[in-house]
Amino acid sequence: MKQIIPGLFTFTSLLIGRVYAIEDPDGLTIIDASMTAAAPKILRQIQEGGRAGSVRRIIITHAHPDHVQGLPELKRVTGAEVIASYVERPYVEGKLPVPTPPKEALRGLDRLMASPPKTMPGTPVDREVGDGDMIAEAFGGLRVIFTPGHSPGHISLWQPEKRVLITGDVMMHPPLFGLRLPFAAFTTDMDENRRSVKRVAALKPEVVCFGHGKPLLKDAASMLEAFAGKVTPGSQD
Ligand SMILES: [Zn+2]
Repeated sequence: MKQIIPGLFTFTSLLIGRVYAIEDPDGLTIIDASMTAAAPKILRQIQEGGRAGSVRRIIITHAHPDHVQGLPELKRVTGAEVIASYVERPYVEGKLPVPTPPKEALRGLDRLMASPPKTMPGTPVDREVGDGDMIAEAFGGLRVIFTPGHSPGHISLWQPEKRVLITGDVMMHPPLFGLRLPFAAFTTDMDENRRSVKRVAALKPEVVCFGHGKPLLKDAASMLEAFAGKVTPGSQD
């Protein structure tokens, strides 16, 4: 576990999909679960940090494989409460296949990357949340912000006093490329996602954590604002 700011950590060497941990007096809140192979790495890093047995809850931003495949193992070992949006719940629970955009709607590389909807190995959701709900136990209160588009029930998490935004796959921050929209191949409604970019940029966060790529710790608000200004609903970018 590597500290981003006091109380907020990221796990290392997971390969695909970034996972975060928030530390509170009552224990840890994990955000997302990465791939199957990541679960033992996450558990080992928790143990090495002297925090074994302390995971209280796991919040899922959305039910894509690189965010939930590690969840069954994390749940089995920790017994933590699983929290997801009510829209995303049936996908997390493996009751419905995770929607993907129709192949005909994709171009170029995205068309090659397209995959049919898959059903995840289900994990029961213990608490479902909606837009504006507070997860009061974590980080002095995390507000749920609905940010649909990449997936139908995608959520971001916002800590208003610390001005920390955890934004899943609303945008990516790959090395060298700056902020980018998520891959069209995995995004069910890109226009809706563009509106979600604008919604989170309007929060003017000081720290932004992504599902893919490095957290933004400097000039985050102005970088998000500039990116949101370039992202136009209805465009083909
Ligand atoms: Zn995703």
